[in-house]
Amino acid sequence: MINVTKTFLPPIEEYQKYLEQIWNSNQIANGGKLWYELQTKLKDYLDSPDLILTANGTLPLQIALKVLAGNGEVITTPFSYVATTAAIVWEKCTPVFVDIHPEYLTIDETKIEAAITDQTTAILATHVFGNPCNVEEIDRIAKKHGLKVIYDAAHCFGVKYKGESIFNYGDVSTCSFHATKIFHTGEGGAMFCKDPDLYKELFYSHNFGHKSATEFLGLGINAKMNELQAAMGLAVLPYVESNIEQRKVVYDFYQVALTNTELNIIKLREGVEWNYSYFPVIFSDENELLKVQKALNEKEIFPRRYFYPSLNSLPYIQGKKIEISESISGRILCLPFYAGQNPAQLKEITSTLTAAE
Ligand SMILES: *Cc1c(COP(=O)(O)O)cnc(C)c1O
Repeated sequence: MINVTKTFLPPIEEYQKYLEQIWNSNQIANGGKLWYELQTKLKDYLDSPDLILTANGTLPLQIALKVLAGNGEVITTPFSYVATTAAIVWEKCTPVFVDIHPEYLTIDETKIEAAITDQTTAILATHVFGNPCNVEEIDRIAKKHGLKVIYDAAHCFGVKYKGESIFNYGDVSTCSFHATKIFHTGEGGAMFCKDPDLYKELFYSHNFGHKSATEFLGLGINAKMNELQAAMGLAVLPYVESNIEQRKVVYDFYQVALTNTELNIIKLREGVEWNYSYFPVIFSDENELLKVQKALNEKEIFPRRYFYPSLNSLPYIQGKKIEISESISGRILCLPFYAGQNPAQLKEITSTLTAAE
C-alpha cells in the first residue's frame, strides 16, 4: 500500500541513545535537557527567530490567536488544513474568508482590504504547501489597518524566502512537527516570534502562565513539548537535509512525467527556496480527479485530497461561496511523495495518471 506520505523514522539506535539520556536524567517533561537542545539546534538549523516548542502544530495557532486576536474577526484563507479555521472558531473568533490566488494557492492579498471591518483584529494566512503568501503586501495592509499577522507555516520547515527563514514573517509564525511533515517529533510543533515582549507572553501562555513555581504572569494553558518528542526530533533532524534532496529527485521525476499532460502543478512564488513538501496536481474538473483517484486506489495507491473541502463549507461555518477556493479544492490531489520513493512505484503512479486522463 502506498500512501500520500511515509513517515521518516531514524535508525532506532539513534533514538535509543536519546532515550538513555532521558532515563539517566529521569526527566521526561517540562523543560528538560533534550527540549533545550532541540530548541537550540532548530533555531540554528533554520536560522530563525526565537521559537517555542509545542505539543502539536495546532496549539500554537490557538495561543497566537488568544494573545493577538481577542474575539474579533480574523481574515483567513479557505484553502488550508481544517486546523487553521478550527483554531479560529475554537478561540471564539470569527473567520472571514478571502479567496485564494488560482496558481499560488495562497490567500489573494488584493482581496484582503475589502474584507476588513471595524471588528477585524488579525490576519491568519497559510503558506500553502510551503509556498509563501505575499508577505510584503500582507505586512503593508496589516500595518495600515493596525492588524496582527499570524502565519500558519505548518508546511514550511526549512523554507526560505529572499534568503531568510519564512518564519521571520508575521507577528507569529507556527509550524507543525506531525509525523506527516518533513521534520517531525511524532506529534509536535513550534511558534516563532521576533518581538521579545510578545515572545515572553507566548512563552508563559504555553506553560500555564508560570513565572516561577508560585508566581504567574498571566493566563496560560499547557502546550508544552515533552522530552520523548524532543528525542524524536533530535534523532530526525540530522536526516532532514538529505530527505529534502531525495524528495527533489522524486519531484523532478513527477515534473518530467507530467509535462505533456493537462495537469497543472504548483506555481512557486519568486524568491522561495522550497522544501519539496507536497506534490499537488490540479485536474481540469472534479470528475477527472475522481476517475484518477479510483484508478490509483485500485492499485493500492492512496493520494490525498489536500485540501478538501474548501473551509468555508465546513458544517459549523455559515459562509458564502468562495469561488476559486471551492473550484481548486474540488480538483486538487496530492500524489504520494516522500524521500526514497521507489522508481517503479513512481512509474506506476504517473502511468495511471496519464492513462486515466
Ligand atoms: C498539519 C497542519 C496543521 C496542524 O498541525 P498538527 O501538528 O497536526 O496539530 C495546521 N495547519 C496546517 C496547514 C497543517 O497542514
